[in-house]
Amino acid sequence: MTGEPTTGDQLYARHRAVLPDWLALYYQRPIEITHGEGRHVWDADGNRYLDFFGGILTTMTAHALPEVTKAITEQAGRILHSSTLYLDRPMVDLAERVAHLSGIPDARVFFTTSGTEANDTALLLATTYRRSNQILAMRNSYHGRSFSTVGITGNRSWSPTSISPLQTLYVHGGVRGRGPFAGLSDAAFIDACVADLEDILGQAHGNVAALIAEPVQGVGGFTSPPDGLFAAFREVLDRHGILWITDEVQTGWGRTGDHFWGWQAHDAAGPPDLLTFAKGIGNGMSIGGVVARAEVMNCLSANSISTFGGSPVTMAAGLANLNHLVEHDLQGNARRVGGLLIERLRAACAGLDGVREVRGRGLMIGVELVEPGTGDPAPEAASAVLEAAREGGLLIGKGGGHNSSVLRIAPPLSLTVAEAEEGADILEAALHTAALNTTQSGRSVG
Ligand code: PMP
Repeated sequence: MTGEPTTGDQLYARHRAVLPDWLALYYQRPIEITHGEGRHVWDADGNRYLDFFGGILTTMTAHALPEVTKAITEQAGRILHSSTLYLDRPMVDLAERVAHLSGIPDARVFFTTSGTEANDTALLLATTYRRSNQILAMRNSYHGRSFSTVGITGNRSWSPTSISPLQTLYVHGGVRGRGPFAGLSDAAFIDACVADLEDILGQAHGNVAALIAEPVQGVGGFTSPPDGLFAAFREVLDRHGILWITDEVQTGWGRTGDHFWGWQAHDAAGPPDLLTFAKGIGNGMSIGGVVARAEVMNCLSANSISTFGGSPVTMAAGLANLNHLVEHDLQGNARRVGGLLIERLRAACAGLDGVREVRGRGLMIGVELVEPGTGDPAPEAASAVLEAAREGGLLIGKGGGHNSSVLRIAPPLSLTVAEAEEGADILEAALHTAALNTTQSGRSVG
């Protein structure tokens, strides 16, 4: 798939000339995806790929899901858009479903057009409600690219500025196995994180508005804290009246298999005060949103409108997608097929010194690469595996702190067992091509 000039080469040059340099692009020769079906996509040169990353970014359930296409087409044929100044039936319908599913009592829902705007709104609500601009966030977290969300993003390499409207206090808990908390048992890790939280709160200036956290860190490399961490945090937060915002932009809608939301792995934490969602629910249409207790949602006194949030075409797509997800028990599918895939990948990586860990929940699986011998992060190896997997016809993602040495696997939730096996075979071959097997090559290659 390399060598000959592709139609993408020209487009890439035009992209570079007109779009920002900081817009990340995958692959040395980036791909132009022209169509998709089920768990597959095709590029402009006719190459077909099994999509093991689009499940978070582009399609939660399946590419070109007929019900979603039909819902969009029918709604577009009636009216494309009406704005929040008028009653919007699909928005009310989806809000009722999301409010019910959120687990938050007396829930209100506000729709946005992205995860960034959802978190931005959650921060506006929490800081207004608590009359404080102090926010607790997790180290290594990612919450978006607006002024307020880059300000709290713990992975500073994803944040272009140190200037922020918010005062952020960072806490441990998202990443295990690195730094001072490495090697601790679950219980000792939780105790250490709670002590860290108490310590940082002791340094705060009066009220703290909220803790915002991803239940499984997404861009951070699919790292999960032990179950129960957020329940232990909640006790401390409640003592101080601090709100808990769970960022479910990657973990929502059953992706983690055992739970519909990531926060539910920490059941005793109770429902969060605010929950943000985006990405998958629209199956590619731009839907984001915030769910909050009515008291918190209604703390804003100024009248407002959202021109595009809740647009009927996106809401119709969201409803059709959610119906499909529930009717086909895709959460259960994520649990079953994700469980098989993780086992299969663990077996494939067992002899590889360049793989530190295969981890995950449901269809959210991370493969962490390291330099054999030193155990240092191996970003060049991760890039090499990404390229080799693409050559083999498989798209995957990467992430994990500033070193980006974790392969991220998040296929559409309808992934079949046969596709899971096919993808695992391609990935196994890609890992070998990238010479992670040190018994053969002696080092990982970039
Ligand atoms: N929160 C999390 C956890 C995310 O992973 C992302 C996107 N990677 C965002 C928020 C921002 O979402 P969006 O790109 O839709 O603005």
